[in-house]
Amino acid sequence: MALIHVVGGGPAGSIAAISALRSGHGVVLSEEHNVAGLPRNCSGLFSRDGLGTLSPFIDYRRHVVNPIRGARISFAGTGITVRRKDAVAFVCDRAGMDRELASRAEAEGAQIRYGERIRSSFHSRNIIGADGPLSAVARHFGFPAIRQHVATLQARVPYESEEPDMIEMHLSGERFPGFFAWVIPQNAHTAEFGVGVELPNRPAAAWNRLMRMKGIAAPPKPCGFVIPILPRSKTAVRKNGFNVVLAGDAAGQVKSTTGGGVIFGGNCAALAGKYALSPARYEFEWRAKFGPDLAMHRAIHRFISSRSDPELSSIGRRIKKLNIDSYLSHHGHMDRPTKMLRPQLLAHMLKNIAGIA
Ligand SMILES: Cc1cc2nc3c(=O)[nH]c(=O)nc-3n(C[C@H](O)[C@H](O)[C@H](O)COP(=O)(O)OP(=O)(O)OC[C@H]3O[C@@H](n4cnc5c(N)ncnc54)[C@H](O)[C@@H]3O)c2cc1C
Repeated sequence: MALIHVVGGGPAGSIAAISALRSGHGVVLSEEHNVAGLPRNCSGLFSRDGLGTLSPFIDYRRHVVNPIRGARISFAGTGITVRRKDAVAFVCDRAGMDRELASRAEAEGAQIRYGERIRSSFHSRNIIGADGPLSAVARHFGFPAIRQHVATLQARVPYESEEPDMIEMHLSGERFPGFFAWVIPQNAHTAEFGVGVELPNRPAAAWNRLMRMKGIAAPPKPCGFVIPILPRSKTAVRKNGFNVVLAGDAAGQVKSTTGGGVIFGGNCAALAGKYALSPARYEFEWRAKFGPDLAMHRAIHRFISSRSDPELSSIGRRIKKLNIDSYLSHHGHMDRPTKMLRPQLLAHMLKNIAGIA
């Protein structure tokens, strides 16, 4: 049994801790805040399937705030709708999830040290850096930098939603360069509004545009966070007698299309806990399991974010013309685009091209 030092008590840190404990190790976890789940840096939207993959660690059903059936996506003004009969995703109380994960880790034997900020001294030579996008662990051990970030602003806004089970996404290179704006209903009367822009663009201007666009007369002050949207080229190392692995945002295990990081980061963190003593194995395992999907998210993001607004609008029109929105309604997958590449897609495209759908 080895002692593992997990740095960071977000979802990745707590899941890594639980996984390391279940692999027979001892765990000390350092979290710089005095409680888990702060600051609130997440819209809390997760796919039902993705939450299912985290079921060995958390019972998400206790944290569901609002079920979501689909999305209205604007391609620079051309709207498409993707909608399921049943909930495909849930808005969850993210702080509550973080607290439950941390208390599970504690109940299974982790020693959690709240209020402990780690800079350069560690409790063990086996380290899991789950300390978020600005990872001090990654910096200390000289990991390659994450090369692409999005700056976000978000706030809860009183909002009468006609469809509280549908989210909105607004893609426009002119208004929200490099990313998008979102409206995620918490219920029929409140929604989380957010914008993301690729750095060095300024999110404040994008935020003001969204508020004007949605007619929000007295917007609250939004909170700003940064999202890494590329993985590091290296996330694990054996160096000077230390085994160091990075998980979650610290590793950049995030969907480039939406910035969602809890599902992939959580699943990779489970591997980090299991293979904390074998950095090369960890690197191999997570890239083999999740690399292809993350790469597809990157390709989609690169394609969308490099289009002009007239091009985006034309993409929206073509999606509608080929009924791809209806294909996505039936076969879309929020996390794993590789699962959408089935023979049905080819059949769907051929039927629509032939006009017999
Ligand atoms: C505006 C916004 C909306 C988002 N919405 C979604 C969403 O709807 N769905 C989704 O899946 N993802 C979403 N994300 C992304 C998601 O929040 C992150 O991917 C997720 O929080 C990553 O978890 P983590 O545990 O890796 O890192 P974090 O949640 O950042 O946790 C890192 C922890 O480490 C601690 N820490 C940092 N440095 C130190 C240190 N030196 N010593 C000790 N402790 C330290 C921090 O206090 C923190 O608790 C969103 C992000 C943003 C910014």
